[in-house]
Amino acid sequence: MYNFDLIRPASLKDAIAALQEEDAQALGGGQTLIPTLKARLAMPSTLVCLSGLSEIVGICEGDDGRVCIGGATTHAQIARDETQVPALAALAGQIGDAAVRTRGTIGGSVANNDPSACYPAAVLACGAEVVTPTRGIAADDFFQGLFETALTDGEIITEVRFPVPTRAAYAKFEQPASRFALVGVFVADFDGEVRVAVTGASGNGVFRWSEAEAALSRAFSPNALDGLQVDPDGMLSDPHGAADYRAHLIGVMTRRAVEMARA
Ligand SMILES: Cc1cc2nc3c(=O)[nH]c(=O)nc-3n(C[C@H](O)[C@H](O)[C@H](O)COP(=O)(O)OP(=O)(O)OC[C@H]3O[C@@H](n4cnc5c(N)ncnc54)[C@H](O)[C@@H]3O)c2cc1C
Repeated sequence: MYNFDLIRPASLKDAIAALQEEDAQALGGGQTLIPTLKARLAMPSTLVCLSGLSEIVGICEGDDGRVCIGGATTHAQIARDETQVPALAALAGQIGDAAVRTRGTIGGSVANNDPSACYPAAVLACGAEVVTPTRGIAADDFFQGLFETALTDGEIITEVRFPVPTRAAYAKFEQPASRFALVGVFVADFDGEVRVAVTGASGNGVFRWSEAEAALSRAFSPNALDGLQVDPDGMLSDPHGAADYRAHLIGVMTRRAVEMARA
């Protein structure tokens, strides 16, 4: 490891100020960032630790009924919580292993926007809002490609606000070595308006499957997906899954998610 300073701010205000310094970077649970530092793929001069900031840890229900999850809330906390969106807790409980879930945070995951990460599918399918100290960003505008988001340098995710679907589920086909999603599909039904978001599959990261959304909005049943197929063109291809296999899996996992949500 090389030398860097570690700041443990006492408040969100202090964290925002510390992140204005050149080459400062936020540290969530460190589950992605620390290995990146070890490999010297990133070399910030200062890490600003967010994990002790009680202002951005926790889960509550907002005045508008949305489920609000602080940016520094760990996967383990979300997995334990009985929110009004049980599919979110189920998703969090499937991330990595116990060590990853104990340290990793929703803010770090969403900011990182790994193309195989699980939360982006939930955030996009629920039409959630990613909140920073200065603005709220709609999910549809937030994810901008592989490891790319609408965040600017030093901008902290303080909260993610999830509208509560009538029913929802996340179906994940695990990549056996990493436990990330080889393909993961989150389906959310808002009184007949259905959103479907797919992670792990596309070379552009998480995306909405609009044909499935239209079909499921007409009839929320696995049969509604009969005949629908995602174009393998543009899907990821690696030793764990070729593009056409991933495209096929999207249909399978979407069906599974619908069945789970109906159960
Ligand atoms: C073995 C292993 C298995 C895993 N399996 C899965 C899996 O199945 N599914 C899955 O979804 N993920 C998986 N992950 C990733 C895990 O969820 C990480 O916790 C997550 O990607 C990063 O979150 P973090 O809080 O650890 O962020 P960090 O590693 O601390 O930071 C990651 C990036 O986000 C930035 N950041 C951190 N917090 C914030 C914030 N609040 N606002 C703005 N920027 C911020 C950092 O500056 C950095 O750029 C796995 C990781 C490991 C090591």
